[in-house]
Amino acid sequence: MNTKGKLIIISAPSGCGKSTIIGDIMDRGQLDLQFSVSATNRKPREGEIDGVSYHFLSDQQFKDLIAEGAFVEYEQVYPGRFYGTLRSEIQNRVNEGHNVILDIDVKGGVNVKKQFGDDAISIFIAPPSISELKWRLKKRGSESDADIEQRVGRAEFELQFRNDYDHVVVNDTLPEAIAEVESLMAAFIGK
Ligand code: ADP
Ligand code: 5GP
Repeated sequence: MNTKGKLIIISAPSGCGKSTIIGDIMDRGQLDLQFSVSATNRKPREGEIDGVSYHFLSDQQFKDLIAEGAFVEYEQVYPGRFYGTLRSEIQNRVNEGHNVILDIDVKGGVNVKKQFGDDAISIFIAPPSISELKWRLKKRGSESDADIEQRVGRAEFELQFRNDYDHVVVNDTLPEAIAEVESLMAAFIGK
């Protein structure tokens, strides 16, 4: 019989490099990891694919799923913008013995860790500084200046939660941050 898989919760303020780090670890394929595709009512960014980056939903579709109890957790991360982890994204995979990565905000991260306890590890990725974070968001070029200001404001709020996580990794030099996150995951999965 399969041993149950585990959950790996990764949270970081927007622009801290979470997608880059997770993408690199998954591309290298050294660990058995499957990505939990969240649902959101925000619009896709250029290059994002429905069902891969997110399940992109209308406001009404999102509300219907809340009413059906389809979410393990959901949060209004930005005004009017909802994001949530679907039960269907994690249940079967974990039961089949696969490990599942969740890229979710701090409130969702703390919530899932509480629900899953020792079956989940929570890792917070922090920026070296707020000014470096601003620069990375500008460089990514996917948000307007107003959105960047909103995300930086949100980052200052999210950083207050870092001590609620099992581990904090500062993404200063990218290869070092990737190696640190991967080794935390490997140690946890191998436990
Ligand atoms: P997130 O998923 O946390 O919102 P991204 O992975 O999209 O963040 O990273 C934001 C931007 O910063 C991207 O342009 C990415 O290439 C860049 N970046 C990520 N890590 C570093 C790093 N250590 N040094 C410099 N730039 C980085
Ligand atoms: P973005 O719009 O940049 O893709 O994501 C914005 C924020 O929403 C990020 O902090 C991301 O981690 C968070 N997020 C993405 N999916 C989920 C989810 O399913 N649940 C929660 N709580 N947050 C999520």
